[in-house]
Amino acid sequence: MPYKTHGSGRPQRSASSFRRGRPQGGGRSGGARKKGPQKQYIHPSKFVNKAVTKEAEAPYEPKHVFADFPFGAELHANIRAKGFEKPSAIQDQAIPEIIAGKDVIGLANTGTGKTAAFLLPIIERMSGIMLRPSVLIVAPTRELAQQIDEEFRAFARGMGLYSALIVGGVNVDRQLRDLKRRPHFIIGTPGRLKDLIERRHLQMKNMGVLVLDEADRMLDMGFLPDIRRIVSEMPKERQSLFFSATITPDIEALVHDFLTDPVTVSVRTTETSDHVEQDVIEARDKAHKIELLGELLAQDGYDKVLVFGETKFGVQRLSDHLSNAGHPSVAIHGNKNQSQRQRALKQFKDEKVKVMVATDVAARGLDIPNVTHVINFDTPQTYSDYVHRIGRTGRGGAHGRAHTFIDQQ
Ligand code: ADP
Ligand code: MG
Repeated sequence: MPYKTHGSGRPQRSASSFRRGRPQGGGRSGGARKKGPQKQYIHPSKFVNKAVTKEAEAPYEPKHVFADFPFGAELHANIRAKGFEKPSAIQDQAIPEIIAGKDVIGLANTGTGKTAAFLLPIIERMSGIMLRPSVLIVAPTRELAQQIDEEFRAFARGMGLYSALIVGGVNVDRQLRDLKRRPHFIIGTPGRLKDLIERRHLQMKNMGVLVLDEADRMLDMGFLPDIRRIVSEMPKERQSLFFSATITPDIEALVHDFLTDPVTVSVRTTETSDHVEQDVIEARDKAHKIELLGELLAQDGYDKVLVFGETKFGVQRLSDHLSNAGHPSVAIHGNKNQSQRQRALKQFKDEKVKVMVATDVAARGLDIPNVTHVINFDTPQTYSDYVHRIGRTGRGGAHGRAHTFIDQQ
């Protein structure tokens, strides 16, 4: 399959630093790829973008304040306790549709509050309802499922609502115990959910709400058969919600298998976050990239840096190398077990280390506060992966920077 050219001739805001068309060798530097789909060709100009300065940006004026939403007193108090003052654009526009009982496709840039956009109205709906379990939330990665669960707990505090986190890679006994308590919300990843449904530990027949978070990612991670299996056990009469930062046409077609007559709420502005200043760095080869990365990390302001690499081994090696070179670093990738992944993420979140080197497993949805820089040590497979990677910085209106290494001519 030839490389797809992507966005050539598309006007660029600040691509003037480019003097050439394609990077040498189509942007590959590591020899033959072992497996998986062939890498998409992404024109380097797509990795360049000046961030919109805060002054220049017209702030979104929500049509609602949280008090307009028909939530109970506890939920309003929990929203205040979280420090939320005004609804974000996606919350402003999706919450009324969800309250009205519609199926919703919610599209909004990364870091703009999609989690609360679906959690708040369904938490309100479930309060005082005895039927359990009632809500199924499916997310592509364990970390993301856990993060949704944490946000759920904060919003549902004191409301008598319970959740179970059903993810792979951890011992199942505790999950089975949690399920026996008949939680209202089941939050999990596709593989383990399917497993427990097939072993008859998890009943889908009372589920009234389905949420697919980062669903396009789940579908391109190959979870479609699992998701179909899970959804086939759910009642047809249900509310289904799909949230993502990106949606491709083939996924949009698939979505209609899971949603009934959905309303699309799209508040995406640009393809990438406006708050992330993006640039490329040319390097001759891998050794040169490592050298340049070391120089960057030695500079002021590189305080919390997320580095993306392509392979599990490459990521681990790079992280070890950086630690040895005086830049405390952890790695997160699929060769680590769940508790190792969690420990690494926590060390990075808590700023015990300066650098986290990750495969794309960490790219989607994770909300890590104050990431100063995202560095694409290896270019992403697809532009959509790029958008998600750099969405880990510049969150909640903060300013972030992204650098992408490309081959030097
Ligand atoms: P997304 O899923 O769109 O990538 P998240 O739901 O992870 O974004 O939210 C990003 C961050 O913004 C989180 O830390 C969240 O608590 C915070 N946040 C969400 N909505 C609001 C709001 N209305 N006001 C203030 N902070 C918010
Ligand atoms: Mg999200």
